[in-house]
This record gives sequence, structure tokens and C-alpha cells, in this order.
Amino acid sequence: MTTLDRNRILQSIQDHPRVPVLILGGGINGAGLFRELALQGVDCLLVDKADFASGATSKSSRMIHGGLRYLENREFRLVRESLTERNRLLLNAAHYVSPLKTTIPLFSWLGGLVRSGLIFFGFDVRPGGRGALIVKLGLSFYDFVTRKRRMTPRHCFTPKGRSLREVPGLNPRIVASASYWDARISEAERLCVELVQDAIAANPACRALNYVRPEGVEAGAVVLKDEVTGERVAVQPQIVVNASGAWVDFTNAALGVTSHFIGGTKGSHLVVDNPQLYDALGDRMVYYQHADGRICIVFRFMDKVLMGSTDIRIEDPETARCEEDEIAYMLATLRDVFPDIEIRREQIVYTFCGVRPLPASGRDVTGTISRGHSVRIVEPESDRPFPIYCLIGGKWTTFRAFAEQVADRLLPRLGVERRCHTDTIPIGGGRGFPASDELREQWIRRVAEKSGASRERVATLLARYGTTAEAYLAAADARAETPLQSLPDYTVGEIERIAASEWGVHLTDLLCRRSLIALRGRATDEAVAELAEVVGAVLGWDAPKRLEEARLAMSEVRPSLPLRP
Ligand SMILES: Cc1cc2nc3c(=O)[nH]c(=O)nc-3n(C[C@H](O)[C@H](O)[C@H](O)COP(=O)(O)OP(=O)(O)OC[C@H]3O[C@@H](n4cnc5c(N)ncnc54)[C@H](O)[C@@H]3O)c2cc1C
Repeated sequence: MTTLDRNRILQSIQDHPRVPVLILGGGINGAGLFRELALQGVDCLLVDKADFASGATSKSSRMIHGGLRYLENREFRLVRESLTERNRLLLNAAHYVSPLKTTIPLFSWLGGLVRSGLIFFGFDVRPGGRGALIVKLGLSFYDFVTRKRRMTPRHCFTPKGRSLREVPGLNPRIVASASYWDARISEAERLCVELVQDAIAANPACRALNYVRPEGVEAGAVVLKDEVTGERVAVQPQIVVNASGAWVDFTNAALGVTSHFIGGTKGSHLVVDNPQLYDALGDRMVYYQHADGRICIVFRFMDKVLMGSTDIRIEDPETARCEEDEIAYMLATLRDVFPDIEIRREQIVYTFCGVRPLPASGRDVTGTISRGHSVRIVEPESDRPFPIYCLIGGKWTTFRAFAEQVADRLLPRLGVERRCHTDTIPIGGGRGFPASDELREQWIRRVAEKSGASRERVATLLARYGTTAEAYLAAADARAETPLQSLPDYTVGEIERIAASEWGVHLTDLLCRRSLIALRGRATDEAVAELAEVVGAVLGWDAPKRLEEARLAMSEVRPSLPLRP
């Protein structure tokens, strides 16, 4: 999205200020709803005060999962819905969502019966160590729910000796381990942007812009400010959807409404480069519990290891950052499970922190607050002629179901009939994605022959962009396929395509959300400088602007590196 395109969209808003639905917030829930409504023929305007997916959507643990832990809170419906949506994403977003074997080290057979029982009956107590019996109950429910359309293997228990052989370095105090299957998402941020692109492809009257925030309501219209140029436009929506996640109450305040819907908790993650841990984990996630009852996870993410997360109440999402004590906490929890693996500070290559948009709750134990989703409606008032539908909570995994449910409430109000369901519609590069290893090999061979690119290159692009890689390669010439000096697995043309067509405004959008360059700890000074040149050429940045963007990017990426003690 070049500056020219931004100006064109802003101009079109000015020319046509009436819009059936204005969605505020382009995280996974806003983007999911945008696609859902676009497919029903509803013209929507989606704006985000920052970049699309820059909130919790890019800060999650990247599990596409049922939520085993929620069974303790009697959230059977949520777990059932999540498992169904997990299975759908395995099909509809197969380019990014893949099965993940998950192993739980068990430190007792009967532990946690009393505490889990109390939580199950609604008492606000901290969970204790969950033993094999409790875990068995949960995993049996998981298997039961997915019995009709099984897409992942059933759970199994592994005796102590074999567990220690399979996961070298695991604490020898375990009595056994349990394994089951969930899923993970690689390029979560890209999937969010693909939803926005799919929506516009389905209904070109829909418009989307990042870095645009609502400033207030004037004469019944929402005044939007373009953060790039400072320009303002007024929009007259029939309905506003507040999909701003942890910022829901702040966004309402900007619209003149006082609300206390959200009680967010922040969660931090570490990305570590530790070969011993990487080798010990193999292809599985280890899902374990700290002494305080909090569940933590650790798994391979590309060539690094991802660890998370914390769960700490926070008032203002703008202040969320990974703090020193959280790093210490996560390293301590890992020592309970892998006592002999030492993570050195310099092996932490990246950290990130996001805020869960949980519903406001008086509960002391944050882990027991529902991870389900709901809608709160603020009806129109004399000076505000439109209702505001506020999206509360929700997991990444369940965004499609949430969007469908919200659309079902909006469509009658708009007088529109539902045209289709999204449960079997593939997303972005998941369209026509080769489903098996054999089909993948065939796809890679075919596209390599057609484009002249090497099979390795085609495989890299297929993993990064799904089947849209084919169109990219068909258009890419030798110049476009010139590798970057600092990141040789990326090419100039690839970066140019992202900058030109994916709403790139700042360099950080590319580093942190259109690619995994920052997350994988690859945003070195050299890479940032080189990318500023390539992106700058597309977006028309002069030399000072390129320097400024590089400086801004480093200041955003660097604080997420741990402070040295
Ligand atoms: C630490 C952590 C771990 C998680 N792990 C998982 C997991 O493993 N699996 C899972 O399923 N879920 C997980 N989640 C939950 C999941 O990430 C979130 O529930 C989901 O991303 C919420 O999406 P959202 O679109 O509602 O909010 P967000 O992604 O936060 O998006 C809100 C957007 O609104 C924008 N915005 C804010 N104010 C305004 C305004 N006034 N106007 C316009 N735009 C505005 C923001 O810039 C932001 O882009 C996790 C969350 C966290 C924080």
C-alpha cells in the first residue's frame, strides 16, 4: 500500500462518508469480522490506530488449541468450539497452521484433585500441581469432542523411563508424561493481513487503513485522524464495531462513552537460541506447570525456541513490556522441567509482550478468568446516532466463530441476509495448499520448473506465503530474485512486494508483522539498514526518512531484547 493508495482510500472516505459498518481495530477479531461481513456483501471500513495485528494478535503463544486448562473452569463449550475451529484452521490455513505434539511432564499421579475440584466448582483458588488423573480426564474430553472428525492422533501416556529417553534433560522427578495433539501457527500476523486482503478481493467496496484512529464524534459522525499525514475525515457509520482488544474502553472513551468492559492481563514471551533445549524438545511442545499453578509452554519455533508466558494484570495496554522479573520467572519455571539446561542471557534473542483482552473480572487468580468471547452493545444516544458493538475477549483460535456470531447479530440490524458461511473457506495462501507431503513435493517441483527457481527457494516461499508464492515467482525477474546481503533467504522482490501491497507504513511493520525477521532475532543493524533502503525505494522515502525509519525500527525492536544485568 503506497502513499498514493493511502491517499486514494482517504479521498474515497471523504467522497463517500456513509458506511454501513466501521470496524475499529485490525487485530484478528476485527480482521476476521471484516472478512465475514465483506463476504455477506456488507461494505465496511476497517481502521487501526497502529498497524494491523500489532496488538495481542502478534503477541500470542501461537497455539491454535482447544485450551485443555479451560476444562478446569468448566468451559466445555469454549473448548469444544476451540477444537472445532482448530480443526478448521488446519484445513483453511494449512500454509501456516500445523499439528503440534504436546507433552505434559507429570510429577504425581493424584496431585491437584482437591484444588482442581474447587476451581471446577467455581472457587477463586490458585491451581496446584495437576497429576496424571486430572490430566487424563481433560485429555479424554479432548479426544471425545473430536471423535467424529479426528484430525490429530489420540492422547497417550508414556512411562517415566521412556519419557526421559524421548525428551533428554527432562526432570527425573517425573512419574510419567502425557502427550496429545494441538496445533501451532507460524505467520500469525500475515494470516491477519490475508483476511483483510481476502475481504477486499471479495467485496472491493470494503476499505481498510492502518495508522488511522478515531478522535471523537462530531455532528453524528466519527472523526478519523490519519496518523501519517495528520489529516482528518468524518465517517457516518450505521454501526460501529469496537474491536480494539485491550483498548476497548479507551476507544469507547474516544467516542464519548464510559465503559469498564476489559480487565486485561499482560503476557510475555522469550525467544531463545539454545541448542541443548532445541534438541531436547524435538518437534514437540512441552506444556508444563510452575509451582504457582500457572501453565507455561516451550517449543521450537523455526530455528529458535519460544517460551511463555506470564499473566499479570495491567491497566493501560500502552505500558505493556516484558520486564526483567518476568524473564527471571520464565527462566525459573523452565528449570523446574529441564533442571540441567541453562539459558544464558545472551541466548535470549527477542522478547515480546501483549495484553489479553479479557472481560473485566473481580477474580484474584487471573488464570481462572474466562477466555471466551462476548459482545457488549452500547445503544445510540442523541448525539451519537449509531450503536457500538464491543468485542470482548476471544482467543486467536476462535476468531472465525466469533466473527460469525457477531455478524449474525449485525446482519438483521443492517437488513442483510447471510450469503455464505466461512467455515470451509480457505484464507490467503491457504487456498489450494497442497495437503500432504507428497502433494507438497509435487507442487514445489511444478512451480520450480515453471519459474526456473530452485526447489529450496520454492519450498521457502511456500512456507512463507502459501500458494500465493506461485504468482510472486511468475512475476519475479532476476533482479527481483536478488538475495539481500544481510538476510540471504529473502530477496529484494519479496520485500518490495510486501512493501507495495501489504499496508506497509513503517519499517517495523515489515520487521515485526509482515515477516518473522524481528521475532527470530534477525533484525541486526545491517538488516535494518538494508531493508530501509529496499522499503524506502517503494514507499518513496528520501535519505533522512530512511535513516529515521531505521532508527525507529531499532528502538522498537531493541527494547524487546533483555536488559543486561
Ligand atoms: C500473551 C498472550 C498469549 C496468547 N496466546 C494465545 C494462544 O496461544 N492461542 C490463542 O488462541 N490465543 C492466544 N492469545 C489470545 C489472542 O492473542 C487474543 O485474544 C487475540 O489476538 C485478540 O485479538 P483482538 O483482535 O481482539 O485484539 P488485538 O490483537 O489486541 O487487536 C486490537 C487492535 O485494535 C487497535 N486499536 C486500539 N485502539 C484503537 C482505536 N481506538 N481505534 C482503532 N484501532 C485501535 C490496536 O492497535 C490493535 O491492532 C494470547 C494473548 C496473549 C496476550
